Amino acid sequence: MLVDKDISEALKRTDGKVYELVENKLGALRRSDQYHSGSFRALSEADREVYELVRQEYDRLENSIQLIAAENQCSRAVLAALGSIVQNKTTEGFAGARYHGGCEVVDTLERLAVSRAKEAFGARYANVQPHSGTSANQIVLAAVLNRGDRILSLGLDQGGHVSHGAPVSFSGRFFDVENYYVDKETFLLDYEAIREKALQVRPKLIVCGASAYSRTIDFEKFRAIADEVGAYLLADISHIAGLVIAGVHPSPIDHAHFTTTSTYKPGGPRGGLILMGQDYDRPITVGTRSLPLWAHVQKTTFPGVQGTPCLNNVAAKAVFFKEALSAQYRARQFKIIENARALADALLDLGYDVLTGGTDNHMILVNVAHLREGLTGVIAQKCLERCGITVNMNRVPYDTNGPAVTSGIRLGTPIVTRNGMGTEQMRDIAELMDSVLRGVEILSDREYGIEESLRDQTCEKVRQLCSRFPMRD
Ligand SMILES: *Cc1c(COP(=O)(O)O)cnc(C)c1O
Repeated sequence: MLVDKDISEALKRTDGKVYELVENKLGALRRSDQYHSGSFRALSEADREVYELVRQEYDRLENSIQLIAAENQCSRAVLAALGSIVQNKTTEGFAGARYHGGCEVVDTLERLAVSRAKEAFGARYANVQPHSGTSANQIVLAAVLNRGDRILSLGLDQGGHVSHGAPVSFSGRFFDVENYYVDKETFLLDYEAIREKALQVRPKLIVCGASAYSRTIDFEKFRAIADEVGAYLLADISHIAGLVIAGVHPSPIDHAHFTTTSTYKPGGPRGGLILMGQDYDRPITVGTRSLPLWAHVQKTTFPGVQGTPCLNNVAAKAVFFKEALSAQYRARQFKIIENARALADALLDLGYDVLTGGTDNHMILVNVAHLREGLTGVIAQKCLERCGITVNMNRVPYDTNGPAVTSGIRLGTPIVTRNGMGTEQMRDIAELMDSVLRGVEILSDREYGIEESLRDQTCEKVRQLCSRFPMRD
């Protein structure tokens, strides 16, 4: 009963018609609540195997330290929207221009997600339909490039993303890709070198934004270069979107023609997002027609690249953007950087080669090959995982090891920060990592041995630390 029983009875006596309407409405709300709240139990009854695996994943997360820079932890409210019956709605097109009936509710949901995304990022246009960060990039590439057109982007082995033109991806197969590089000594972006390269290769699209770069990116400089050579600029902020929302990293929104991001990295549901700032309605000629850039992006999303949107993800994105607008979310972005700096400093103190000498964002890149003769990224990842510390191997710029071995690891602080850890715990984590990385026996470039006592002791310390910082909603 959602309304006081006496009021309900009184209404029934005085106005039977209104009473019935209210009861019907309330009944539907009650049934929706009951339907949705039982979903985890329904899974346990319908599929024990999958249910147990979900529980195992929860257990893994509770008892190990998550330091993968590309991961985050969404709220249960986001999970609830993802697991709602909105998932069943099939339609094509955008709010107000759909190809199926029954869209009045999902239209409102999508408009809400769009307006919150625009507010969170200070954007003029937002497209919440991309299924992933990769799809968002694919849509932008398909919108402004023809087969064989030239892209200038940061190479994959330098910190770029596979969807920025790697030969193994659609972006590298259908377009002519040229790369810019980080400086050989400092590992920093050298804007003068990028400008020279752009003048030399005359790209139609410049891509900036990275998966492995721990310093601030100067989007304004990238735009000046793009303007000089008459290129579009795409800023992919997948990794730093949360920092951009909070203003702890400069925003590309009004500098780039297009800004893309994944929505899970800043702490939302899986999915992608395309944003545009002041250039959103600049005209583009497509065939013989001229239309605003945003409308062309819309058409390239559907029917150009994607089919039906995942409207449960759209609902979950709306929930996340509301969270991202809160003071608490913004404050946490500062803490994420504070923790990353503390972890970088602790590792530097312990003698590690932290690339660029530190970090401006949530991410730390470490060349572990410089710690010990024979140590590689893959060994570091594997032995730390055995001890309850989850990281990923990563090539460092100009790496002599291949992508399956690597010389580096990449660390990130979004999840540990979300669960309440602070700078003191970052020091503890650095020490735990150090005892493992110095203690393992290196057998080959991918194989290692570890003493049981070191492994068990570390696992126990990790568990103790984790138990003080359980997963937060
Ligand atoms: C993670 C990432 C993506 C890919 O996002 P998905 O949603 O996993 O496809 C794109 N670009 C950059 C820079 C990324 O770091």
